[in-house]
Amino acid sequence: MPSPPPSNRPPMPPPQISIIGAGIAALTLGRSLARHSIPYTIFERDSAETARRRHRYGITLEPQAYRPLLDYLDLDAKAFRDRLAVDGGVGGTGYQGGNTASSPASAMQAFRANRQKLEALLSQDLHVRYEHVLSSLARSGDTTTLTFANGQEVKANLVIAADGVHSSVRNLLSMKAELKTLPYAVYRGKRLIKAAEDAAQAYQLLFHAVQKEGGIVLQHRQGQTLLQIQIDDLTAEQADVTYTYSRPGGREPQDPLFKPSRSKSDARETPTALFDEVAQLSSLPDIFAEVFDAEKMRKDRLLNWLMRSLPPPTEAEMTRAVQENGVVLLGDSAHAMPILGSYGANAAIEDAVALGECIADEELKGGEDW
Ligand SMILES: Cc1cc2nc3c(=O)[nH]c(=O)nc-3n(C[C@H](O)[C@H](O)[C@H](O)COP(=O)(O)OP(=O)(O)OC[C@H]3O[C@@H](n4cnc5c(N)ncnc54)[C@H](O)[C@@H]3O)c2cc1C
Repeated sequence: MPSPPPSNRPPMPPPQISIIGAGIAALTLGRSLARHSIPYTIFERDSAETARRRHRYGITLEPQAYRPLLDYLDLDAKAFRDRLAVDGGVGGTGYQGGNTASSPASAMQAFRANRQKLEALLSQDLHVRYEHVLSSLARSGDTTTLTFANGQEVKANLVIAADGVHSSVRNLLSMKAELKTLPYAVYRGKRLIKAAEDAAQAYQLLFHAVQKEGGIVLQHRQGQTLLQIQIDDLTAEQADVTYTYSRPGGREPQDPLFKPSRSKSDARETPTALFDEVAQLSSLPDIFAEVFDAEKMRKDRLLNWLMRSLPPPTEAEMTRAVQENGVVLLGDSAHAMPILGSYGANAAIEDAVALGECIADEELKGGEDW
């Protein structure tokens, strides 16, 4: 069969793709583009060291979201889980409720993954330029000029805003970002419980809960107060845990624990009323009594969490962002949900997988629409 006549048109150069942020959405998109050999650069605000150390906590990964990551990473479900499960350090699977006989090793199930490990795995060999805080963007023709706080300027045809719930890109484009706050008072603490020190008993209780009962996330309710203990990383030496104290907030006009309009820096200010309320909790099960001990909590790193959600921009706003600025929003910068019970990481992965496929399809067609 004769081969088709060669096209006279020169091939379109690949688009210059700049991704702002190196969180879960950006790293997933980077992996997808790398797999399709499409060039891109990720610009991250934090230093490489900060990025490596942050996000030491567990998130629930759902199979429909993480399935494509297995291809991107060339791993099977078991190997993926072994690398990331919060109790992987003691041979666990990250399954809430434990590894039952109905859960073959190869099964794709929701599991608790350590977010720090997930980002480390996704970021391997990707082009990430750290310490690049986006400060402005301007479009001229089909090129957007990005300016970073370190003075660097970068030109891009396509800009992906994957810079999280407080997205600078969204702000720079003056897109509405009305965060809605649910009426809950939520305080989160982090603690490292060592197996060998005076916390040995607490470690044993946690170890037992995880190993025997698959209790990766433990909950206890007292009245309207919900106490949660989550395993972030469990090894034979220590248990890294996050715990949260939450209850409806703002019912009393002077509720000292509910501060919906506090500044970001005030999140670290813990009212003494929290310790008073915790001290009044009675007859807590052993491990809750250990963790929710007001005196121990005073020494922990505590944060006030606001249960905020960010509705997505309208279709008209998104179309304008693409047509006038060459910008696509991804993950939390487009839509965010409250932290407790969030599906945000999964949504960020799903967004990034869909966008990566879309860009790859466009490339296959010759990039005529770039
Ligand atoms: C404690 C906690 C527990 C959670 N648990 C779950 C869970 O169980 N399940 C779940 O699905 N989701 C969970 N989530 C939510 C989930 O983590 C987020 O929805 C998800 O990380 C969103 O990903 P993203 O890539 O869109 O944004 P992010 O992960 O927030 O990434 C944004 C990135 O952009 C960078 N950046 C910001 N501004 C700039 C700038 N101007 N220039 C350059 N870079 C910038 C940031 O440093 C960051 O790296 C949890 C979140 C928290 C905090």
